[in-house]
Amino acid sequence: MKALPLPLHHAGDGRFRNPWPDGTLQRFSGLLRWQLDRPTKSSPVQPDPSVFRSVAPMFPQPRASEDRVVITWVGHASFLLQIGGLNVLTDPVWSERASPLPFVGPRRGVPPGVPLDALPPIDAVLISHNHYDHLDDRTVRRLAARAPGARWLVPLGLAPFVATRGARAVLELDWWQEERLDGVRIGCTPAQHFSARGFGDQNRTLWCGWALGSGARRIYFAGDTGYHPGFGAIADRYGPFHAALLPIGAYEPRWFMRPVHMNPEEAVRAFADLVAARPANTGEGTGRPAVMVPMHWGTFKLTDEPMDEPPVRAARAWQAAGLRPTDLWVLAHGESRTL
Ligand code: ZN
Ligand code: ZN
Repeated sequence: MKALPLPLHHAGDGRFRNPWPDGTLQRFSGLLRWQLDRPTKSSPVQPDPSVFRSVAPMFPQPRASEDRVVITWVGHASFLLQIGGLNVLTDPVWSERASPLPFVGPRRGVPPGVPLDALPPIDAVLISHNHYDHLDDRTVRRLAARAPGARWLVPLGLAPFVATRGARAVLELDWWQEERLDGVRIGCTPAQHFSARGFGDQNRTLWCGWALGSGARRIYFAGDTGYHPGFGAIADRYGPFHAALLPIGAYEPRWFMRPVHMNPEEAVRAFADLVAARPANTGEGTGRPAVMVPMHWGTFKLTDEPMDEPPVRAARAWQAAGLRPTDLWVLAHGESRTL
């Protein structure tokens, strides 16, 4: 019997790759050049604290009703998503630093918007990839102990990481595979990024986004991604989306970051692609246009742009695209909004 050809994002040597032409990564020498050229290395930007507002969490406890979707931003790429009566976490990071070591590496500028001990019962945890700002050793252990019944959905290759830290029900998915948890359909979606936690493990585990749907309500969490041509296909398969959680930070310097992190203008373009493919206000959905929820900014300083720049540029791009200002949901840490 002839073996089926591997999908394009499987490199064939046990590693993964981006299937789009612009997804080629910078080499290690590029990383060194960026670190050596870094203009802001010695001058940490002091952001205006008003941009990093925190509010006391007000999400429904212990669960939201099945017909409502409530989105709460914990910080960076960590959200509490209440959908279809389930409580779902994305990329949970509660630690002080996004780093392998407790005393060096990017430090949290704002505490988690919801303390870990204040979380409602967690039914599922979604992981997008293994970078330290998305997958945190200590947080995985604490959550696995606190929510032993939670189901963990991870991209290919990451099950051992969470299982060895106590997660019991772990499902590993490839792009375009999906799972149904109670009434909620959860799909693993393509992203343009890479993976690595140490030396020699680059791209040995997959990266992805997640699409969630319950009844007519659908939301999309992009994970970490550069701009790529696949957003329309994601909306075709799992849309129409009523909310798109898209990364807008960690984009400078562009010559290095462009393949792996969108800037705010690209995030708005990705949003437009998602909506053009499957508009949410055609009567199929809830009858309201989609909203964009920016993420991956304002919590950890990872790259060279000023930390308060992403939402300003996102708002400008949003306006230039002719979108309604009220449909750009720039959340404070801890803030909840209901779809
Ligand atoms: Zn990443
Ligand atoms: Zn990241």
